[in-house]
Amino acid sequence: MFKKVLIANRGEIALRIHRACKEMGIETVAIHSTADANAMAVRLADESVCIGPPQSKDSYLNIHAILSAAALTGADAIHPGYGFLSENAQFARMVEEHGFTFIGPKAEHIDLMGDKVSAKQTAQKLGLPVIPGSPGAVEDAESGYDMAKEMGFPVLIKAASGGGGRGMKVVRHEGEFIEQYKTARSEAKANFGDDTVYMEKYLEKPRHIEIQVFGDKHGNAIHLGERDCSTQRRHQKVIEEAPSPALSEEGRAEIGTLAADMIREMGYIGAGTIEFLWENGQFFFMEMNTRIQVEHPVTEMLTGIDLIAEQIRVAAGEPLSINKDVIKFRGHAMEVRINAEDPDTFIPSPGEIKTFHAAGGLGVRFDSAVYNGYKIPPYYDSMVGKLIVHGRNREECMARMKRAIKETVVDGVKTTLPLHLWILEQPEFISGEYNIHWLEKKLEAKHAEKPIKAE
Ligand code: ADP
Repeated sequence: MFKKVLIANRGEIALRIHRACKEMGIETVAIHSTADANAMAVRLADESVCIGPPQSKDSYLNIHAILSAAALTGADAIHPGYGFLSENAQFARMVEEHGFTFIGPKAEHIDLMGDKVSAKQTAQKLGLPVIPGSPGAVEDAESGYDMAKEMGFPVLIKAASGGGGRGMKVVRHEGEFIEQYKTARSEAKANFGDDTVYMEKYLEKPRHIEIQVFGDKHGNAIHLGERDCSTQRRHQKVIEEAPSPALSEEGRAEIGTLAADMIREMGYIGAGTIEFLWENGQFFFMEMNTRIQVEHPVTEMLTGIDLIAEQIRVAAGEPLSINKDVIKFRGHAMEVRINAEDPDTFIPSPGEIKTFHAAGGLGVRFDSAVYNGYKIPPYYDSMVGKLIVHGRNREECMARMKRAIKETVVDGVKTTLPLHLWILEQPEFISGEYNIHWLEKKLEAKHAEKPIKAE
C-alpha cells in the first residue's frame, strides 16, 4: 500500500480524498494555488506545497509543478480527483514515467474514452447500444446535412472533445443545419482546441442514467448500480439520485451487466462511469468518464462502500474489496449540488461565507471544504458543497433532504439551496416523472410568470 498520496485537486474533492487516505493510514500532500492557501485540505493534510498563482493553468493544471511537488515530498501516488487533470492522458503518462502511481485508469483508456467518437465506437463494438447518429466524425457540412435529413430532425451536433455540458448544438430544422454545423466546429475549436464534431439524434424526453463501474488488476469488473442525473440545467447536473425512479430491477441488472462486461473486455482498471440516455425503456450509451465523479457519494450512501478507498486499493495493485455478491443496495439516496450562485439568475456569487452551518442527523452527509469565514475565490467553479441524504425509501429521502436544506446555513453569499428546495416541491419531481429537459422548461415557466427582477 502507498505511504503517501499527493492530492492533485482542490475544494471538497481534495478533502474527500484526504479523508479516505487518513482512514487507510496513508499520509497526504495537499497542493494549492496562492488563492487556496487557507483551504481545508491544506490545513488538514500532513504536508502542503504551493504550486503557483490562482489561474488554474498556472497551478492545478501545471503538470511540472505538480510532479515537482510529488518528488519534493516523496509521494508514491497521485490522485487527480475530478476536473482539472483527471482525464488528461498525458498527465497520467507523465506521473507513471516519473515513478509515481496514477490513481486512475491506464492512459490508453483515458485517451480512448476522452475522444467521444472513439468512445462511442468502442462501446458499440463491445456490445452496448448507442444513440443513433453519425458512424464517426462528420467531416463536412454537406455530408452532415444528408445524414441529418436521413436521420430526421432534430439532431444534435457534438464536439468530440467536449465536456461539462458544453459543445453541443441542437438543430431543429434542415434550413439551419449548414450554419449551425459551421458554428459548432468553430466553437469546438475555440473551446476545446479540436474542431472534430459528430452527430446524434436529439432525444426529446430522455433520462440521464449512469452506471458506476470498477475494475481491478486481477480481472475483476463490477458495477455498483445506477445514478439518475436527469435533473439538469444547461446539460449540467443539479440533483442526482439512486435508484432511478424509472428503472425496474430487470432493467438495472441488464444494463449493469452490460456495463461491467464492457470494462472487463477493455481490461479497464479503477473507477469509471458509463453514461446513458434512457428513453421508453431503452438505454443508449453516451460517454464514459474515466475518473471519480462529483455524485459518487450517492452510490456510497446506497452501498456503504468507500469508492475513493477502492480507487486507492486498486491503484496499489490490490483486488477490489467488494464483489457483486456482497454489494447490497439499501434504500434511496439523493445529492444536491450547492453552488455559490444566485438561485434565479445563476450568476456566480463569490465572496466570504460569514456563517456556515452544515446539516446533520440520521442519513445526512455534507461534503464541503468551506467553514466560517471562508472566502470563495473567483477563479474556480462555483460549487461550495454537496448535501447527500439517505432514506429507507424515496419519500423518506425527499423529506429528509428538505429538512436538511432548511437546516443548512451559508450566509454571506447567494447559493442554489432555495432552488433545490423549490425543485423538491414540484409535482413532477415528487412523482419521479422528469427528464433531462424538465427543469429547464419548468424554470422558464416560473420566470415567465414571475419575472426575476420583480422578486
Ligand atoms: P458532457 O461530457 O459535456 O457532460 P454528454 O455527452 O455527457 O456531455 O452530454 C451531457 C448532457 O447533454 C446529457 O446529460 C444530456 O442532458 C444532453 N445530451 C447529450 N446527448 C444528447 C442527445 N443525443 N439528445 C438529447 N440530449 C443529449
